[in-house]
Amino acid sequence: MSHHSERKHALLGASKAGQWLACPPSARLQEGIEEKRSEYADEGTLAHELAEVKLRRRLLPCNSAERKRLEAKLKEIHADTRYGPEMENAVQDYVEIVEERFMAAKARSSDAVILLEERLDFSEWVPDGFGTGDVVLIADGIMEIIDLKMGKGVPVSATGNPQMRLYALGAINGYSFLYDIREVHMTIVQPRLDSVSTDTISTDGLLEWADSIVRPAAALADAGEGEFKSGDHCRWCKVKATCRARADANMASLADEFRNPALLSLEEVGAILFVAQQLKTWANDVEEYAFEQAKAGRRVPQWKLVEGRSNRAITDKEAAKTKLIEAGYGLDKIMKPQEMQGITELETKIVGKKLFGTLMDGLITKPPGKPVLVPETDPRQELNSVSSDFANENFDT
Ligand code: SF4
Repeated sequence: MSHHSERKHALLGASKAGQWLACPPSARLQEGIEEKRSEYADEGTLAHELAEVKLRRRLLPCNSAERKRLEAKLKEIHADTRYGPEMENAVQDYVEIVEERFMAAKARSSDAVILLEERLDFSEWVPDGFGTGDVVLIADGIMEIIDLKMGKGVPVSATGNPQMRLYALGAINGYSFLYDIREVHMTIVQPRLDSVSTDTISTDGLLEWADSIVRPAAALADAGEGEFKSGDHCRWCKVKATCRARADANMASLADEFRNPALLSLEEVGAILFVAQQLKTWANDVEEYAFEQAKAGRRVPQWKLVEGRSNRAITDKEAAKTKLIEAGYGLDKIMKPQEMQGITELETKIVGKKLFGTLMDGLITKPPGKPVLVPETDPRQELNSVSSDFANENFDT
């Protein structure tokens, strides 16, 4: 059985590959800095444990000792305070997707193999490189790697995803001498976002990437060498607030000069928006860092902590209610009317997704969202701005 809670953090971990591939010296620079352990990470670990138990029970032959062990594990998970119907539903959705893929693999080849929580070793390319694959399926020349992500933020794409590719590399490394694998499918499932993303690469293409891109970058990163390069990958970097290379790059982008004519063109506005977004993110990181330093008692020159705004609060609601009633104000005046819970609350915490869907059939509508401006690369479909109704509308309301 795997030990999710013991997942070690190697210097060149697969989950951080986006970072050290783009900015090799970032790995050593973050060494020894403690990870802010988030509640989300613990919750994700529990969900992975639940997923594994469910998949073992459904897809693998169990003797009675194994069944007992899984039962005990399940009890333990159910008793955890982070477990709840919302997690149960999300994990169940994932389990059903894995089951479907396994059935499809079996249809291709009767001796399809499924491996759960496999240690995948890619140290041939990356010093001490290994990871844990949630699911590896092998059937008829095709290997499929499936990864569960419990995030509720933005959907993570599997396309060109270095973490998935490194897992694939580890799996190829471990199994290509047993099976003739021509092609790898890499799938990220994010049940909370209803997102399933798959990318495909040939085994040859994967090995080519590993030799030409991964090996040299990993060697530089391991040696603490190479060039600093800032970008989207800085987001998860532990030194993102104080990194000089990132600061330099951002300050340099401010120096861009726009000359005549007096007003910017739409082309220039579009270009500035990208810089502005990047600066906003960086500014937030630096501000948060400075705030934490100040709270810890370290003085940030030219800045100080002061008391922020606060709101009045009634200390004893019952006593206040009594006074108001005595003064002649009716309950209907002083109390808020009863209000129904929100859709998400009802669906995830109170009723459950499936039953809620049945009960609310035809009773829920989703109006079109307000227009938002996003980069051209965003996967959402473009609105037809000229002919549609919103061209002349005022959205300031
Ligand atoms: S903040 Fe960005 S540029 Fe700086 S070390 Fe981290 S990944 Fe590299």
